[in-house]
Amino acid sequence: MKIESYDLDLDVDFPKASVVGTVGITIRGSPSPLSLDCATLNIRSVRVNGKPVRFILDKPHSKLKVYSVPKGRSLVQIHYEKQISDETMFGLYKAKYGQEYMLTTDFEPIEARTVFPCVDEPLYKAVFRLRITTQKGLSAISNTPTARVELAEGGKTRFVFEETPRMSTYLLFFTVGKLEELRTNSGHIEVITATRQGQSKDSRFVLDVVADVLADYEKYFADPYPLPKLHVVAVPEYHTGAMENWGAIASRESRVLINEDSAFSDRALAAGTMVHEVGHMWFGDLVTMKWWDDLWLNESFATLVEYKMLDRIRPEFKAWDMFLRNETFPAITLDALSTTHPVQVRIKKAEEANQFFDIISYNKGAAILRMLEAYAGEEAFRKGVSNYLKKYSYSNATGEDLWKELGAASKLPVAKVARAWLTKPGFPVLKVSTVGDQIKLTQSRFTMSGHLPGLWPIPVDMLIDGRKKSLFISGRSASVPAKVGSELVVNAGRTGFYSVLYDEPGWERMARSFPGLSSTDRAGVITDLHLFMQAGQLDPEIYFRFVSLAGQVPDSLATETIVRQLSNLRTIADEAPVLRSAYGKFYAPLIARIGEDARPDEPGDMGSTREALTSEYAKVDLDYARKLASRFEDYSHLDPNLREAVAVAYAETRGEAAKEPLLKLVKTYESEVDRGKIYAALSSFSDPRLVVDTLELVTSGEVSRSDSAYPLLNASKNPHARDAFCDWLFRRYEKLREMYGNSQQFYLFMGICMPYCAVTREAELRRFLSGRRMKEGGPTYARVLELLGTNVRLRKRLLAAGKQN
Ligand SMILES: [Zn+2]
Repeated sequence: MKIESYDLDLDVDFPKASVVGTVGITIRGSPSPLSLDCATLNIRSVRVNGKPVRFILDKPHSKLKVYSVPKGRSLVQIHYEKQISDETMFGLYKAKYGQEYMLTTDFEPIEARTVFPCVDEPLYKAVFRLRITTQKGLSAISNTPTARVELAEGGKTRFVFEETPRMSTYLLFFTVGKLEELRTNSGHIEVITATRQGQSKDSRFVLDVVADVLADYEKYFADPYPLPKLHVVAVPEYHTGAMENWGAIASRESRVLINEDSAFSDRALAAGTMVHEVGHMWFGDLVTMKWWDDLWLNESFATLVEYKMLDRIRPEFKAWDMFLRNETFPAITLDALSTTHPVQVRIKKAEEANQFFDIISYNKGAAILRMLEAYAGEEAFRKGVSNYLKKYSYSNATGEDLWKELGAASKLPVAKVARAWLTKPGFPVLKVSTVGDQIKLTQSRFTMSGHLPGLWPIPVDMLIDGRKKSLFISGRSASVPAKVGSELVVNAGRTGFYSVLYDEPGWERMARSFPGLSSTDRAGVITDLHLFMQAGQLDPEIYFRFVSLAGQVPDSLATETIVRQLSNLRTIADEAPVLRSAYGKFYAPLIARIGEDARPDEPGDMGSTREALTSEYAKVDLDYARKLASRFEDYSHLDPNLREAVAVAYAETRGEAAKEPLLKLVKTYESEVDRGKIYAALSSFSDPRLVVDTLELVTSGEVSRSDSAYPLLNASKNPHARDAFCDWLFRRYEKLREMYGNSQQFYLFMGICMPYCAVTREAELRRFLSGRRMKEGGPTYARVLELLGTNVRLRKRLLAAGKQN
């Protein structure tokens, strides 16, 4: 069966939020009966080649069965109605702001079927001709430019969009609302940001990023962008970061509405998100996975090029540092659990995709691709990718097809190495020991509950007394000659997805050379030490010794990596003396050195380091919090990188008296990133009652669905509110799940909150999740419970480590 095209005619009643639609599907070789995907639609009539035919709407299976479709080329026309629900953030939905809304779509993976009957699988690519008729005074945007705007019956406006190239159903997009645009050009391509009215002025930063990176991608892929325009639409309520609809990226507002007055970390995140989505215009949109099994590749590849291209167009963001902090390091912790899964998993039903496509698939997948790039060589990798894109343009492909092209371009067995890493769970640890004048490297699988047998083909980069040495380990162990007492760094540059365990003299030497290592290597060492401590395989004292050493060197990657670790440890065991003493040895000297106010000659990323350090230190040192809180009066004039810390300090020190002023302030902000910082403060009170008041704003709907992540994730990390948060979560679980439509995003949040907030309530959480919830949250909850167990044991060890001192 082949779908040639969809002619989609939608009459959108904007005030009533309803649609009357007609879809004409031109199809060849249809089976009998033709089974279309179709959900939440009321079917009025079905015609085949102009004649009415029999049809059955199978609601439980979301199928529309159409009879009497001939084998040859036919036109199946379906006339239907749809009511747009107030609840969801998928399919076609109301993205609300104040009293208004825009109607917008989000189809990945299986929501196109809720807007028009179709064969809703990525393999069935087709041409789309879309026409939208709606009330006068509204605008409409879709994947392709508007060919013409007509006057329609009843004084309505009809937008007729140009025909799309062949593409998958999940990439179709449209929005209707009161919109405003900003335009620029990238060569022959028009780049446009669209926002709600009054907001477009703040989309200039993102507009320029998209225009710049589009030109760079054309060079990298050696393939022109195939559409005449590219939109970025800022959607007021959006459940994920952004979505790569071909020619019309949709995004939450915080990734588009960013200006010179935004914090460094917010600008970096917005730029990275856009570069990622533009990468998908080729990888994902032009060439699409055959089936959801390869969604991991789609996302991992876009994630890899996100950092690669960001580094080229905006080097000030130090993209490869961000890659380690956001991708490699978080993935390595989760992949150390025995409940992890291989990057590549078999997906039978599209619905399952949501459960498996998580940090393991995306982040680890991206880290493995980075390792394959280092193995194949940068230019051979680029050439292989470019050949792959040309060969499968407007069509579909699999991971194997990509390995084949990478292998041909590099003349190396890329497929073999790729398969070894992608089809088995976990990752190796390299044990490094020195025997005489030989360094011995031995591999096994690292897990939180011990080392297991396991073999990976590992490309190893190491530094021996500062000199680089590369080797490839495929057996259990390998030896490298070196002078006795040499300084070693294994996995130098951290392109490898494995951890490194030195012997005792090795750690001793490492401590001596640590301050002189590169920022990347320091962060890598700290990540390994933290992992070994989590697993109970390393005395906490050794980890904290390195944390103190890092307190002497302000550098963004290692510093921010440790801030994140200490913040997690604080949630687990705030009262442990060993942790309290680490705050003084790490935060205090670094803040004394970099200060609260930016210096004109400092690198840009010092802003994000300052933001991370001050916000966390304000939570653990009351004197420091008092000092910062005194600057709250001047809040709107503060350096944007200092705002979160000042707001947090204000809440921390004033308690109840801070609540009303913060709630008043948050209402005045038009921008999501500004509101996010105030919600972080409203979740940082030391009085758990006040934190619960904030959480209740999420479920009452007062906090918008887009903003809800800020109070939710921040409150779950607040050790004073740990118990209260748990109680609230147990009480509001079903409501939250409903708010997020049982989506990937919901499980992502639960995966972040639960292993920390429940550290003193393990048995209770186990009971709470057992049965139906466990079944629904499958892989996520298995991991939650294992990580929780790990955290419970770590808590005991941290509390005990304090007592010995
Ligand atoms: Zn993506």
